[in-house]
Amino acid sequence: MESNNTTSSNFIKNIIIDDLKSGKHKEIITRFPPEPNGYLHIGHAKSIVLNFGLADEFNGRTNLRFDDTNPLKEDIEYVEAIKEDVSWLGYEWEELHFASNYFSEMYERAVLLIKKGLAYVEDLSADEIREYRGTLKEPGKESPSRNRSIEENLALFDQMKNGEFKNGEKVLRAKIDMSSPNINLRDPIIYRISHSTHHNTGDEWCIYPMYGYAHPLEDAIEGVTHSICTVEFEDQRPLYNWVVEKCEMDAKPQQIEFARLNVTNTIMSKRKLKMLVDEKFVDGWDDPRMPTLSGLRRKGYTPESIVTFCRETGVGKGYGVVDVQMLEHFIREDLKLKAPRTMAVLKPLKVVITNYPEGQVEMLDAEINSEVPEMGTRQIPLSREIYIEQDDFMEDPPKKYFRLFPGNEVRLKHAYFIKCEEVIKDNAGEVVEIRCTYDPETKSGTGFTGRKVKGTIHWVEASQAQPAEFRLYEPLILDEEKAEGESFLDNVNPNSLEIVNGFVEPNMKGAKGQDKLQFFRHGYFNVDPKHTTDDKLVFNRIVSLKSSFKL
Ligand code: ATP
Ligand code: MG
Repeated sequence: MESNNTTSSNFIKNIIIDDLKSGKHKEIITRFPPEPNGYLHIGHAKSIVLNFGLADEFNGRTNLRFDDTNPLKEDIEYVEAIKEDVSWLGYEWEELHFASNYFSEMYERAVLLIKKGLAYVEDLSADEIREYRGTLKEPGKESPSRNRSIEENLALFDQMKNGEFKNGEKVLRAKIDMSSPNINLRDPIIYRISHSTHHNTGDEWCIYPMYGYAHPLEDAIEGVTHSICTVEFEDQRPLYNWVVEKCEMDAKPQQIEFARLNVTNTIMSKRKLKMLVDEKFVDGWDDPRMPTLSGLRRKGYTPESIVTFCRETGVGKGYGVVDVQMLEHFIREDLKLKAPRTMAVLKPLKVVITNYPEGQVEMLDAEINSEVPEMGTRQIPLSREIYIEQDDFMEDPPKKYFRLFPGNEVRLKHAYFIKCEEVIKDNAGEVVEIRCTYDPETKSGTGFTGRKVKGTIHWVEASQAQPAEFRLYEPLILDEEKAEGESFLDNVNPNSLEIVNGFVEPNMKGAKGQDKLQFFRHGYFNVDPKHTTDDKLVFNRIVSLKSSFKL
């Protein structure tokens, strides 16, 4: 048994190690089983990394299986998006399956249960079934339908299948124990009627298996050895085992639960994310504000950063919430040495260097990434007119403001010292231009030591600057408590997107979608693949440079 050690130690890994040692399994098979009712989010990544990671580590296999047993909510668009996202994370599934391809076998196994006296057709309405079910404190009551003969049950189930009943008129229930302390075992519904078209099986079926019955069968049919799910399903485990045993499945998969991933300020439910899309709070499932994998990708997250985040957050059983800053930490770590560094002015203010020769353009050498000298250098132009950041100038600065103000001298990154000599305002009193002088003796890289300045500011030469749009993001939901509740739509942050227009260095011309960069002092940005055209550069801010977060 070879270990590639792609996951840190955890209790599921220990179970697998024991099962391989004892000979219970020769090879482990896991699966990632999304329902195609929306796009994958960062919580799903956790499950993907765990399932594929464990199989990789022990030379096992992982299937991608669409758990498509609910025709009303599912769509082929979601199937395609999910495949793309799993591949993007860097995982290859062994087999691709649809639960709906097992409908015939599931039906046959239900007939087997009926024949064994372990399932019956129920006439009670949904409300009555609920009433009969009892509570945590009180046992349930047996339904009058419970004692139907096997023949009658077979005939009625056949009629259900043939479309002779309306939605909700009948259901098939497993006959287990109406007084079980585990409510999931009080004769759970295993088939329901739904006259609707399914994305894969069309109108072939009008009865559909319920999750608690379908999922164990799907796992067993595929020979899954370890069926990993989240802790909400712990109480379903006895039903899972009951179904596998009573349906006489050869394989005996083991359900193992772990705590779901929760992240601060992050909505983690496909159903709620779909509401944000449908009600146009965001621009589609891949809006960079969305915690979907497609949204994170468009924002500029790398698969490596997401996989590392999922691994480092660990695998446990207890409830926990991970700070979103931890995810941001890993994208900074990933891009720190990979991303070229360049200058961008997000909110421009024009500066004229009055003693710089008119018509002269000088090319300056600048490192592409000061921490990675092998990345080489780039050339940036300087001339008499440049743009600086509006925030880098103040007419009446407070103490300890070391950037540009009347009479003060600063360094232009990669260039010279400039000194603010004059402030030009429009009729409304707004500052529209700054006039400076520069000192040719102070060129960067020449070892000038004559005097020091406290501030270094970034800039872009005006005549060759590339216009660019910058999209700056804040969380969609600011109040953590409110992200959990049903009224979360009332609490969507109206300022989650700010769009500003500025300039980038001329060498950015031709940047393509998904190129990642560090803009000096502003953070990491990604060229937006949806809005960038040959004529217009659009950048998404992935994350700012600094954070107080400590791992
Ligand atoms: P949602 O409510 O967002 O639709 P789900 O659990 O219903 O989530 P599925 O498509 O059924 O979504 O999930 C596929 C797999 O991903 C399941 O095994 C599920 O346990 C896992 N999963 C979903 N959300 C999380 C999460 N936040 N953390 C860990 N695993 C998750
Ligand atoms: Mg679901």
